[in-house]
Amino acid sequence: MQSYTGAIVGSGCEHTYANVDWDKLGFNLIPADYMYIIKCNDGENFSQGALTRYSKLEIDPSAGILNYGQGLLESLKAQRTKDGRILLFRPEENALRMKMGADRLCMPSPSLEQFVDAVKQTVLANQHWVPPPGKGSLYIRPLLIGSGPVLLMGPAPEYTFLVYASPVGNLHKMSMKLVIQDKSHRATPGGTGGIKSITNYSPIFKPIKEAKSTGFSDILFLDAATGKFIEEASSCNVFTVKGNVISTPALQDTILPGITRKSIIDIALSFKYQVEECQLMVEDVMDADEVFCTGTAVGVTPVGSVTYQGKRCEYKTGAGTVTERLRAKLAAIQTGTVEDNLGWTLTLNQA
Ligand SMILES: *Cc1c(COP(=O)(O)O)cnc(C)c1O
Repeated sequence: MQSYTGAIVGSGCEHTYANVDWDKLGFNLIPADYMYIIKCNDGENFSQGALTRYSKLEIDPSAGILNYGQGLLESLKAQRTKDGRILLFRPEENALRMKMGADRLCMPSPSLEQFVDAVKQTVLANQHWVPPPGKGSLYIRPLLIGSGPVLLMGPAPEYTFLVYASPVGNLHKMSMKLVIQDKSHRATPGGTGGIKSITNYSPIFKPIKEAKSTGFSDILFLDAATGKFIEEASSCNVFTVKGNVISTPALQDTILPGITRKSIIDIALSFKYQVEECQLMVEDVMDADEVFCTGTAVGVTPVGSVTYQGKRCEYKTGAGTVTERLRAKLAAIQTGTVEDNLGWTLTLNQA
């Protein structure tokens, strides 16, 4: 196993980098040196947090997060531009989503300004962990958890907001192979599928593991109420392309409101595609020209095939596709290679 140090290599040139083999980045944890942490009591507000070295947490065995899963995660990325700037993509959207999730899970949440400031501080303290342009990004993981002790089921008396980071490469180097299956569901009406609750993920480990063992990249989940409509994959939203029409399931409490999803809708509209947020049936997916997934981790990733009840549909991927056109535009904005006239990127430093 390779071990990583915060040692800075390279000097006298414009950037210094941590000692990482940037060409081999995957999606495994390489903890960046610093994390941001702040606590607050229930009924109070978060105040001034602080950066500390990335380290283990000391946590009460009776903490709300350990016993009752009271917690939220967020995810966003910092990218380095060719001219050495470091960009965040729409961090206030993550802040807003955490706030909505916190409300649903009866937790206090950092204000939008506090959230964005914590992310900024974390990235700036870990600048040399932001990969060189074209090699990947610094993945940022904010967490909000019930950290105080609670025995009787209910909200914790104390909360911790923290932000850590890790450099990552592309999650899927190729297109995805999805499978639709009837037996497991990701979210239920009235549940927490519409927020990034920590409790949404481990219940699908088993079906995902089964799907992977038979050669699929992920499951395309159907709605739990009727089993007729496509919702999304385990951690990314889904779109179809048919002619000039781009469709994605309309948001409801069983679908996570992805920031990539929202951005792709705007980019597609700016390219004059017709965009529909609707109920998408299995048949619509099978009938599409292209299918793609969106999310911070996957970016825009083409779907090569969808399999349902043993029937496999294949889709166009690669050069010349609508998916590729949308992917390239979003990536160009996020990496600063085209002008961002939508105000989506936040520059953290001067080149
Ligand atoms: C995080 C997540 C997404 C994608 O959201 P982005 O804001 O685009 O990263 C989609 N679906 C689920 C279930 C998720 O957890």
